[in-house]
Amino acid sequence: MGAARSARWLVAAVALVAVAGVARVAAKPGGHPRRRGIDALIIHSLGGPDCRDGTRFYKTVTGDARQWMTTFNRLPIVSIHYVVDRDGHVEAGVPEDIAATHATGWNQRSIGIELVNNGDGRDPFPPTQITALVTLAKAIMARHPGIAIGRVLRHSDVDQSTFPPERYGDGCTTYRRKEDPGDAFPWEAFRAALAP
Ligand SMILES: [Zn+2]
Repeated sequence: MGAARSARWLVAAVALVAVAGVARVAAKPGGHPRRRGIDALIIHSLGGPDCRDGTRFYKTVTGDARQWMTTFNRLPIVSIHYVVDRDGHVEAGVPEDIAATHATGWNQRSIGIELVNNGDGRDPFPPTQITALVTLAKAIMARHPGIAIGRVLRHSDVDQSTFPPERYGDGCTTYRRKEDPGDAFPWEAFRAALAP
């Protein structure tokens, strides 16, 4: 191994250690200290579009809110403040004063809520789940008056990025990465319910 080549190996090794170190630090608190005020609330659904071997599909979301929060707590990169189950049970995760990692470019300023749902535009959101979401969202907005109703947003409102087809095999045409919570979510009724 020549000097230049071993130098390249060293750089690669240091980069790997640095990435591993960041992942561990991020995983322990489940988020990052906030550097700015909270002025947004972002609604997600757990499911979303995927594509493999030329076939586009939505994963079927199984498991309850508690199981999903356990999963989030183990994931090194993504994290969330709340998960709302289909039956209305609310599971709390990252504290609100910590920024979770759930919406690119919006993490520092927002609180994130995940809904247990396939996110495919067909899986219905039961009324018990929406009622619990409204109650939770109102409580969050009362705690953080900086969140105007116009800053209650869907993940699809703040992330228009696409997946390039070449990464997912022949036939996977480019599609939006984030559609959630999707067309089955009663967006207008939800926003109307938040009005004072
Ligand atoms: Zn999302």
